[in-house]
Amino acid sequence: MDKDKQIIHMDQDAFFVSVELKKNPKLIGKPVIVGGNSDRGVVTSCSYEARKFGVHAAMPGRMAKQLCPQAIFVRGNMDDYSKASHEITEIISERVPLFEKASIDEHYIDMTGMDKFFGCMKFASELRQTIIKETGLPISFGLSVNKTVSKIVTNECKPNGEMEIPFPGVRPFLNPLAVHKIPGIGDATHKKLSEMGVRKVQTLAEIPQELMFKILGHHGLGIWQKANGIDLSPVVPYRERKSIGTQTTFESDSMDISKMKAILSGMVTNLTYELRSQQKLTACITVTIRYSNFETVTQQARIPYTALDSLLINKAHDLFKKLYSKRMLLRLIGVRLSHLVSGFEQIGLYHTSEEEYDLYQAMDKVRDHYGIESVVKACIVKRPERDEQGKIIKYNPRKKHLEEKQEEETQPVDERKKSRIRTFINSDLGTATKLDG
Ligand SMILES: [Mg+2]
Repeated sequence: MDKDKQIIHMDQDAFFVSVELKKNPKLIGKPVIVGGNSDRGVVTSCSYEARKFGVHAAMPGRMAKQLCPQAIFVRGNMDDYSKASHEITEIISERVPLFEKASIDEHYIDMTGMDKFFGCMKFASELRQTIIKETGLPISFGLSVNKTVSKIVTNECKPNGEMEIPFPGVRPFLNPLAVHKIPGIGDATHKKLSEMGVRKVQTLAEIPQELMFKILGHHGLGIWQKANGIDLSPVVPYRERKSIGTQTTFESDSMDISKMKAILSGMVTNLTYELRSQQKLTACITVTIRYSNFETVTQQARIPYTALDSLLINKAHDLFKKLYSKRMLLRLIGVRLSHLVSGFEQIGLYHTSEEEYDLYQAMDKVRDHYGIESVVKACIVKRPERDEQGKIIKYNPRKKHLEEKQEEETQPVDERKKSRIRTFINSDLGTATKLDG
């Protein structure tokens, strides 16, 4: 255990609900639930008043309604939550040199070495008050020796709390807690541990390391370390958070706008699928185009946190329209999604309908089994051919796809590689340009 580290974990209390209460103070003190208002929806966030009835995040809305019939269901608005999230990040970034945005409402701050200049607890406490004052949203924090312990400390002092557990106190603090308080212990692991008679963190911490590995593999080792207050993962600076991107170089330079738009849609679809499988959300999209004379231009837009195609495709098309100002052939087009944060349940809030959300889940499942190109949106496939009256005379996207494939197979491998959409992670377009050779 690195006993000299000073890590703060800051976490908004019932974030989405708090934003709703700020908008509509009449809801204060009432059991409020964001999400889960339709039959198949899931609770995204719930007020502490609702939690008293046993309601919790990720619970089916129907069950929440049974447990707490008087609960007020609010649909939720991701735009508002994203704005509030950026505001909080902004306040933190102005005051600390090294922080990580871990999710839409959580930040880790590495204060190691700073305690020589001012007390970390005093600093964190003042920062918390500033955030409350400037955003009007409640927040809690834990201060301890690493990310895992600090997060557990925050969870223990929520809501509206702050607490410091300095090094000598880490084990005594963790020991009496229930094992499910350790981040990363899901239902399945919890069940297994219960069957072994392991209920308290102390019991888990005292199991021989080798035995934990035998029973639960690497995951077992991970939770054993956490139970012992060990976590070596660093605070990853916000600017260096991963981004994902993809680009296409055309075999022959092109000016076909509808083709470009279809390619953009296809690239965004692939990227959002990747986002969802990594359980991430993005808040920034960048489109790059390169003209045939190698002049390269880029446009960026901030967006509400999302992992769904529809909004991102529209944004990508907007940016492309702004970028493509010269009537000149294009040789490359690229899309990048950045400002990534962890978050998954939140994507459920974004869909306009349950049907759309279900559709994405179903499409992802098919892609998981049969590959990323097994399902595509119709807009990415060739448009149907029409006669002069606008009547469709030929529309067989599947056939077209097969024909293209055969064509592709007859091309030399190098040519195929050239046109393939490349996905690169944790890289910027500068590197991409190099990749492009
Ligand atoms: Mg929170």
